[in-house]
Amino acid sequence: MTGKSVRAVFPGSFDPITNGHLDVIERGIKLFDELIVAVGRSPVKNSLFTPEERVEMIAELTADMPGVSVESFDGLTVEYAAQKEANVILRGLRSLTDVHYEFKLAMTNRAVAGIETVFVMTSEQYGFTSSTLIREVATLGGNISNLVPKNVYDRLQKRLNKKK
Ligand code: ADP
Repeated sequence: MTGKSVRAVFPGSFDPITNGHLDVIERGIKLFDELIVAVGRSPVKNSLFTPEERVEMIAELTADMPGVSVESFDGLTVEYAAQKEANVILRGLRSLTDVHYEFKLAMTNRAVAGIETVFVMTSEQYGFTSSTLIREVATLGGNISNLVPKNVYDRLQKRLNKKK
């Protein structure tokens, strides 16, 4: 068989990675030979973790997933994908609101770089999980332990205790 090997890039801010992102990674790697989780270094509003910390947490979570790796990147996603010789961009969808934004992003990326975007839909239970809300709720002392992996939860606690 002369199957084509498919390398995908899953770009995002991942500040921090959530159970929803992890769900997308687990679904994505079933579709591709290789999946690079790509942490954007561009500044996030009210960011909590540095790109290095975000990469570290994702590396801990994906260490035993064959084919999955993680890196940070600067600048345009499509340029990074080209540099990595990736054929596909992976993105996750939670709701119709996501579709609206993601559709424009995917069309733009295809228009400027000819790269296709593949979407996977998250498990229903993570349909409302976002890094932004997790940062907000955790900062105000809410319990987000069901929404993020254990290593992220522990780091969030540490970070927020330090901030107090
Ligand atoms: P960005 O800053 O580019 O929106 P994020 O880190 O917030 O990056 O998200 C990266 C990708 O993961 C996006 O495609 C986003 O729609 C998707 N995503 C985020 N949270 C979830 C979730 N709970 N379920 C499925 N996909 C998600």
